[in-house]
Formats: sequence, structure tokens, C-alpha cells
Amino acid sequence: MKWSIQIGKVMGISIRLHITFLFILILFIYYFAVIDLKIGTMVLGFNGMDISLTEKLLFSTIASILFFSTILLHELSHSFVAKRKGLNIQSITLFVFGGVAQMEEIPRNPKLELTMAAAGPALSLVIGILTYAFYVYFGPLEVDGIGMNTKNAILITAGIISVYNLVLGIFNLLPAFPMDGGRVLRAFLALWLPYMDATRMAVSIGKTFAFLMGIFGLLTINLILILIAVFVFYGAQGEERETFFAISLEGIKVKDVMTPRQDLIYVPPDWTISQLVEAMFRFKHMGYPVQEDLDKTTLGIVTFEDVQKVPKEHHDSVQVKDIMTRAIISVSPENEAYQALQTIAKHNIGRLLVIKDDRITGIITMKDIMRNMQFKHMHPFPD
Ligand code: ZN
Repeated sequence: MKWSIQIGKVMGISIRLHITFLFILILFIYYFAVIDLKIGTMVLGFNGMDISLTEKLLFSTIASILFFSTILLHELSHSFVAKRKGLNIQSITLFVFGGVAQMEEIPRNPKLELTMAAAGPALSLVIGILTYAFYVYFGPLEVDGIGMNTKNAILITAGIISVYNLVLGIFNLLPAFPMDGGRVLRAFLALWLPYMDATRMAVSIGKTFAFLMGIFGLLTINLILILIAVFVFYGAQGEERETFFAISLEGIKVKDVMTPRQDLIYVPPDWTISQLVEAMFRFKHMGYPVQEDLDKTTLGIVTFEDVQKVPKEHHDSVQVKDIMTRAIISVSPENEAYQALQTIAKHNIGRLLVIKDDRITGIITMKDIMRNMQFKHMHPFPD
């Protein structure tokens, strides 16, 4: 995924941080250092302490990293349930509004989805309650010793982790996509309804919810609420589309929709660009595998975009091997077509080579996949 870095691996899942997540982390560090928001006896910031700004920032950094680790734990709890039920999770990317797990397949099993979706908010609530108990047991803050006082710093940190985990847990239980509550709701409805209908209903409920939240945000001039409403609205819509693709392509494999080997057109590496352009006009394909012959390993892939980078006057001297892309992105013929679609979208490319045992067996394009979906036409296309 673009704009993210890997920070480690847990249970075979690579943990990635998206740049938006790091940005929010920095905002939180600053926020906790300069604020002293009070809830009851709890103080949720280090500003009130009689210490230097550097020390406040230091405490705030520790509290923020601890809090963000609990967000990671929330995401891991979803994946932990999935792994235990035999689903393969490759990576988790933490975004500004939580995480996205990269899964090979989506569980279409309502009971599993219910447990998976509920695990996250449940863990956040448990962390919130436990740290609250810690606060109550060791608290409250020593008002006289609000200065450089380790006990106070620990209690403020516990308060922050407690309150924000409770907020996170409750917010995620809102019955709207893309929050966990939306998934819980869909899974619950899917116990009785077909999966797509359950998704549609959960999406409408989520959209209505977002709409009401937006109106309320406008009336109270609460910018954050309006932003969340917009985020929830588009999240719901995205979920509907994703589910539509996933369901329409269910059971369809790459080999069912690809251009098979016998119909493949390839170009040799020593062809000139002029020869290639001629082939493009004749066969009306925009991309070709580059190889000596079909039984040899594919050397690369060459597309119309590559051609455009070469000035016309060099078309007779430059060869295909000079401009082709050598890093080949491929799928196996046995992969799900839906997975191929995700790979195409993720890398923003036109076509994937289908490779088995190091030999090319076909090519699959976005068009091949879409055409197949139109044939099935189980449901009208969601807009
Ligand atoms: Zn979650």
C-alpha cells in the first residue's frame, strides 16, 4: 500500500503504518501536552503539570504511543479471530481512522463476521474498563504534587488510555460502515437475509445515520461531526460496491475469464518500437508480454504508455527490451478473479500476466473481469 511503512510482524501479519496515522500521532502528542481536559477527577493532558514543555511533550509522547498501541491491539484482535478461523491475513495498515486488514478472502460467514467485527470494540472496551479500574485504585491525582510527579504522570496516562479506548469502543459500535458496528449489523442481518441484501440494508442504515449526524453537525456547527458524517457516508457506499464486486465474482477464477495462452499475442524483445506500434494497431491491445517464444520465461511487459515515452524519431532504433517493464505483477490461474481485480486496482495497471510454474498461461484485464460481471448481472450496478 502506498505511503505506508512496515514496523514489524505479529502472528505472521505484517504491521504497516500509513502516513496519515503518523500525522495523527504527532497531533495527539501535541494535543495531550498542551491540554488539561478534565472529566470528573480525571485530567486528560499534561498541561496542568508544573514542568517544562519538553517534559510535557515527553510524557505526552509516551502516553500517545501507549494509546496508539491499544489501537493496534484493537486491529490485531480482529485479525486474531480471523486467523483462528483459518483466514489468511497478510498485513494490517493503520490509517487515520483505524486499520485495514489485507485479507485473501472476505469471510462470507455471518457468524464468523459477527465475532470478527465485535472482537475489536470488545477489546477496546475491556482495555478502557481495566485502565479505569487502575485509575480508581491508584488515583486520584495528587493535587499538591501536580509538579514533577511520576504518580500523576502515570495516572494521567491511564486516564487518557481509559477514556479514549471507551470512546473508540463505543464509536466503533455505531451501526454504520465502515465502523465495526456496520459489520456487526450486516452479519446480524445476514443470519436471515442473503448477504447482498443484508449489506444493502446495513448500508442504508449507515447512510441514514451519517445523514442525521451531518444535520446535527451542521445545526451545532461541529466541524468534526460533519467530517465524520461524510467519512461514514462514503465508507458505507464503498462497502456496498466492494461487496457487489466480491459477490458478483464469487467462485470465478482467473482462468475462467483470462485470455488463454492459445490466444495470446506476445512481442519479441528485439522488435523495434515501430514494429510494436504496428502490432498495437493491428491487434488493438494496449499491452503485451515480451518473450522469445511462449514456452520461455516472460522477460517483461510492454504497454502503450511505455511507447509514448519514446520520441517518434527513435521508433526505428529503440527496441522493446529497452522500454519494457521488467518487474512483472502476476496472478495464478487458480486465484479468484476478485483478487485479480484488487491487484489491478491496487497497482493501478491495465493488465496482469497469469503465470503458472514460471510459464505464461494467459493475460487478464479489468475489462475481462467486468465483462464477466455484466453477464452474471445478479443485481443492478450500485452507483
Ligand atoms: Zn475495529
